Amino acid sequence: MHTLKTGLNTLTDTEVLNGFSKMVREERESIANLILHLAQIHQRRLYAQSGHPSLFSFLQKEYHYSGSAAFRRIQAAKLSLYFPEIIDLFKSEKLNLVAICLIYPHVTPKNGKMLIQAAIGKTKQEIEYFLDTQFSRIEKTQDKIRRLPVIQKKITVPMPSKETCPPQSLSFKEAPSNLPKKVTATVAVKASDRVESHTQVIEIRRVKLECVVDEAVAKKIERAKQILRHKYPKGKLEDILNEALDLLLEKKDPQRKFQRMAQKAEAKTKGETIENKGAAYRSNLPKPKPFKTNPRYLSTALKKEVWLRDQGMCTYVGKNGKACTEQAGLHYDHIHPFALGGQTTPENIRLLCQSHNLYRAQQTFQKMQL
Ligand SMILES: [Zn+2]
Repeated sequence: MHTLKTGLNTLTDTEVLNGFSKMVREERESIANLILHLAQIHQRRLYAQSGHPSLFSFLQKEYHYSGSAAFRRIQAAKLSLYFPEIIDLFKSEKLNLVAICLIYPHVTPKNGKMLIQAAIGKTKQEIEYFLDTQFSRIEKTQDKIRRLPVIQKKITVPMPSKETCPPQSLSFKEAPSNLPKKVTATVAVKASDRVESHTQVIEIRRVKLECVVDEAVAKKIERAKQILRHKYPKGKLEDILNEALDLLLEKKDPQRKFQRMAQKAEAKTKGETIENKGAAYRSNLPKPKPFKTNPRYLSTALKKEVWLRDQGMCTYVGKNGKACTEQAGLHYDHIHPFALGGQTTPENIRLLCQSHNLYRAQQTFQKMQL
């Protein structure tokens, strides 16, 4: 991938960071002014003058805002009419638009000032927690597992080549065995002599799960997401649940246990145990390089020592003194780079997150080029 030439490439790191900070301040100033104007448009109903039924429609259709962006600005504009202090709080980065939207439905003339104060400097989760306790927002929902309607999706499947499967032997009434099992429609074949691919319709059914969990469960999910970040970078709950349930069933499901027992018994009657089957399999694998001869190898003991010392978090500290402390997707990094002769010893190994590991690698590469 090529990086975009923007004319900024010649700037120093400090100039880029300072320029960015300046623009963030200007952006906030500009949004604050926009909210004040929007409040006037609301109060004077100028959107109606422009032919729109609502302020929302005015922003979406006239100015092409996304639904959520329009919603947030409108909530802030309306609140600013009763509590103008939110504008200065927004400019000084003490209150953001998400926080304003969270408190907005609960604000009354009596509690407004208290809610605004309570939201200052808090994260979305902290504000939600506060509102939950303040307004008994704890949901009393029952667990729900709802099957969603079946959707049909067209997919293009490559056909086997002529050499492996001559056209005359193909029957298009039944799906070839290499296709997904859920195929329900007949195969539409290209009307050409040389059949290369065809379209299939598959049925997909998704299921919606809904439940309210304890804080402890939520923490376990977050931790599982961190541990599996390398495998599931998007951290989708579906993937995490699937992985967790597979592990649980592998251990606890009697059906799987019996299957394993049957497999063992079958192997025994054939005169092979799981162990010697494994040994035979391993003997066919290419021999790994002995650990001791690989100077880059990190032993489990070394990893444990470094992990405990660094408390399982990224150790990078920025020039401004801010420590990273990310706990997901960690790498073991050679402080004095391995490529430049650094040793694989606990003193020279530290934990770095993905971003800082890449940043370090980039710096090492630049050093090597010099
Ligand atoms: Zn980091």
